[in-house]
Amino acid sequence: MTPAALTDSFGRGLRDLRVSVTDRCNFRCLYCLPETEEAANFYRTRFDAVKNPRPLNAPIPIAWKPRDELLTFEEIERVVRIAVEQGIDKVRLTGGEPLLRHGLPDLVARIAKIPGVRDLAMTTNGFFFAQNAEALRAAGLQRVSFSLDSLEAANFKKMTGRDGLREVLHGIERAQELGFAPVKVNAVVIRGTNDHEIERLVEFARTRDLSLRFIEFMPLDSGRTWLKELVMPGREILQRVQAQHALVPVKPASASETARRWTFADGRGELGIIAPVTEPFCGHCNRLRITADGQVRTCLFSLSEHDLKAQLRGGATDGELRARLHDIVRQKEDRHHIGEPGFRQPERTMSCIGG
Ligand code: SAM
Ligand code: SF4
Repeated sequence: MTPAALTDSFGRGLRDLRVSVTDRCNFRCLYCLPETEEAANFYRTRFDAVKNPRPLNAPIPIAWKPRDELLTFEEIERVVRIAVEQGIDKVRLTGGEPLLRHGLPDLVARIAKIPGVRDLAMTTNGFFFAQNAEALRAAGLQRVSFSLDSLEAANFKKMTGRDGLREVLHGIERAQELGFAPVKVNAVVIRGTNDHEIERLVEFARTRDLSLRFIEFMPLDSGRTWLKELVMPGREILQRVQAQHALVPVKPASASETARRWTFADGRGELGIIAPVTEPFCGHCNRLRITADGQVRTCLFSLSEHDLKAQLRGGATDGELRARLHDIVRQKEDRHHIGEPGFRQPERTMSCIGG
């Protein structure tokens, strides 16, 4: 008998599993895992909203999960297989930086072989992509999304904490050479930091035939200094692009798509805007996440997690894991509450949850 599809209590069928393979990262993006107070409070001179007594150069401590707490490849493969038997057909590997996980192509190969995985993708900062590209492609990775917030070396360094623009651009080039399609580029837009680069990023995407996604800044940073004033609303980004280009809306492939999409009238490149803060799309959310240490999250903004690792390591049968996933999915939240009174940022940050 085919197991029933994972469906939440609001009738949303879950199809998309995001698997974080590590909480570690070689970058220190100021909107995700800032290195110092200064990096976290990058806007302090412009807004005096955060009163922080710590010195600007104080490092923000990071407590990486011990390696033996991370799910093994066998455990990840098992969870994915069980989820796929229940309707999941899209799998995205993420992190932290997934390419810091030793032997990642082996994991890709294991997941690619699971019958029913229709789409296997990865999100990466791209720094280590070029040297892994062929192995990942051969292992069965289909799509890759690169994070690229700036095309100016100095601003790239300010935003990511690392001097890595050249390596990331090289990674994008390799992905295209090897036939990953589409190659996506994600840019988190922060007002006053990289919004002046919107037009340049669009030109970059168009000349290289990339799918560009602008993403609103969400309150998931480890510095906990998110401010709504720093969010560049999707609508404003769209107006900026429309001031220069005739855009043609793209019909969503499914209601659960996070990005509103457009093509350019001359057919070069594709634009997507992901606006979870100002235009939430929770009503059609079909995503489920598992953290590197085996905690299932039903929403980016969940305030609690469901420990699957204990069950995986405690001898649970496939049937028990299946039942547990159903039980977890039934508890999926209807929506996030960003901007509402009483909103609480989750304990864990984007780098741990997996974007
Ligand atoms: N390290 C990889 C990377 O950067 O692509 C994968 C993990 S990263 C957490 C996944 C995505 O989350 C990236 O596209 C990143 O830009 C995005 N992200 C991280 N923190 C964010 C935040 N506070 N708001 C919006 N997007 C964020
Ligand atoms: Fe690392 Fe990605 Fe977070 Fe940047 S966004 S710090 S690359 S996990």
